[in-house]
Amino acid sequence: MEYDVVVIGGGTAGYVAGSILARRNKRVLVIEKNKFGGVCVNSGCVPSIFLFDATFLLSRLNEIGNYLGIDVSAEITPSLFSKRNDIVEYLSDTGRKLVENSGAETIIGEAKIISRNEIKLDSKIIKFKKLVIATGTKAKIPNIEGIENAISEDEAVNLNCKPSSMIIVGGGYAGVEIAQFFSRLGTDVTLLSKSRLLRAFPDEARSAIKESLEFDGVNVVENVNIERIYGEKVYTNKGIFKGEIIVYATGRKPQLPEGIEKLNLNINSNGIVVDEYMNAGENVYAIGDVVDKERKTAHSAIFDAIISSLHILNDKITVRRNNFKIPQVIYTDPQVGIVGNIYEAKKFSTFPFNATTRSIINGLREGYVKIGINEENEVVFGEVIGNKAEELINILTIIVNSKMKVESLVLMPFVHPSLSEAIVNAAKGFFGLDVDNYKSENE
Ligand SMILES: Cc1cc2nc3c(=O)[nH]c(=O)nc-3n(C[C@H](O)[C@H](O)[C@H](O)COP(=O)(O)OP(=O)(O)OC[C@H]3O[C@@H](n4cnc5c(N)ncnc54)[C@H](O)[C@@H]3O)c2cc1C
Repeated sequence: MEYDVVVIGGGTAGYVAGSILARRNKRVLVIEKNKFGGVCVNSGCVPSIFLFDATFLLSRLNEIGNYLGIDVSAEITPSLFSKRNDIVEYLSDTGRKLVENSGAETIIGEAKIISRNEIKLDSKIIKFKKLVIATGTKAKIPNIEGIENAISEDEAVNLNCKPSSMIIVGGGYAGVEIAQFFSRLGTDVTLLSKSRLLRAFPDEARSAIKESLEFDGVNVVENVNIERIYGEKVYTNKGIFKGEIIVYATGRKPQLPEGIEKLNLNINSNGIVVDEYMNAGENVYAIGDVVDKERKTAHSAIFDAIISSLHILNDKITVRRNNFKIPQVIYTDPQVGIVGNIYEAKKFSTFPFNATTRSIINGLREGYVKIGINEENEVVFGEVIGNKAEELINILTIIVNSKMKVESLVLMPFVHPSLSEAIVNAAKGFFGLDVDNYKSENE
């Protein structure tokens, strides 16, 4: 028996590719060694955004209490964590069912590569025409003496209790998200960052998040060198910090299946090198976080899965990966969303939420929408800091990827009052039409 396609990995990338290919009548097998849904469902986006939502509502509840003069109080109980576990379980189970419902076969086991057309699963040899590697990443364990006393970011988002104190090593997006939601649950959090927080992000985003973390009570220590960990103590050049739980959120590394060297692929420390169709070599595709690419996200993994599947299917709507800009969101309060390349923009316009009627009504006035245009007046960059950046950045993703001219955007009759009006108002700023915004002194 030979499959048309074998997909190794039942995470976001693998379940989407497996499902598409099966729906288009390919004989497909998706192999997962652990739990369907991969990192996103089991130890990434889903558990962490659940805790973001819960603590956002909690903090909102307190604010609303003051704002509307209502007496509110909320207590954290263990059912918070069991609710999260139920959602994770449900989505993981659904992921597998969706693949099967599409007509693909699934199996739990660890795939080992034997050749370009064969893998081994326990003692069984499975043959196929094409291989899709969707094996993702695992948390990078930093080289720090005593690191065995610490837990990974994946474990932190799945803790079933609220620790009294926590030290987080790593100031990337996972570190800041975990810092904020545990701090809002009542944990005493210290965040240790080797450099500045979120160093790959624009300055305004970095300072908005840092300010907000400190407002929530997080002790943010930047440019710190960690010397060693001993029990609950972290020794650094800036003093000793103590935490009941120590977490490392220091990046991730590709998780390559055993035997991959038999495929002679081009692989570096960031992952498998692919072309614009996610092709890594003859009959072999790589998709998702295991690929050598920037901004490893679940939606980028879905995008890879679609591109590789269309290419495998020889579909006439085949698209090239490099033609698209993928957005990124940090799920903190305020949220940060970014799309496009800031360096392609020649001029910028910003519209603040404190001048946006919808934000004035709901009381979440922090942040802004910023857009950048190139010399042809095409919108090439978008940045949102504030409430619902996760949604507004999708609108900007359409605008940036369709290379919309700012003179077309400015005429869009967006609903009033709505948060997304800030996007059109930012465009209006280029033409002096942003009448809801105070004119600056030099205008
Ligand atoms: C704390 C945290 C928060 C995150 N939050 C977000 C977010 O809010 N939004 C977002 O877009 N992204 C987020 N991400 C990133 C997102 O989780 C990943 O981009 C996404 O999971 C990548 O999907 P993937 O399918 O490429 O890999 P994975 O999800 O890692 O899946 C790979 C799968 O392959 C399996 N596998 C590996 N080797 C084998 C083998 N030899 N045989 C069989 N199976 C194998 C693994 O068990 C795993 O299930 C977050 C990540 C973390 C850690």
